Amino acid sequence: MGTSPLQKRRDFAMKLDHVGIAVESLRTAVPVFERLLGRRADFEDVVEDQQVRVAVFEFGRSRIELLEATSPTSPIARFLAKRGPGMHHLTLSVPNLAERLRVLDESGVRLIDPKPRRGAGNSRIAFLHPASTSGVLIELVEEKRRRSQGRSNPKGRAPRA
Ligand code: ZN
Repeated sequence: MGTSPLQKRRDFAMKLDHVGIAVESLRTAVPVFERLLGRRADFEDVVEDQQVRVAVFEFGRSRIELLEATSPTSPIARFLAKRGPGMHHLTLSVPNLAERLRVLDESGVRLIDPKPRRGAGNSRIAFLHPASTSGVLIELVEEKRRRSQGRSNPKGRAPRA
């Protein structure tokens, strides 16, 4: 393996933001994860843009999100119909999303969103194509300053789905 242009970049500092898991029903899946993790979910919310209801377990700066479709046209409903319940996507946070997309594009990674778009909770997000990422759907989210996060939700955190 040679040195890729990416490895030379000092600012290539992605962090694991969250893992999204598609479930048929939060009512049955949340207790399974609560038993597994030995604690309660931190909160639940509805993300209208993505047509999902989400239950969130926080681990420091990372989270597990259980995703239930709120409509038959939800991306999660389509995923469940095709693949059944399981891991849906993982999300990495990056300091400068537009710049990162440019670098990934130059290095041959296929992008679903060539430019950042608006995600839930006023975040800036972009998806990479699973064909370029070992079959895993990867979402990138631009890091936000903690202070400005999630005004719309009482616990001060914004699930992005
Ligand atoms: Zn997500």
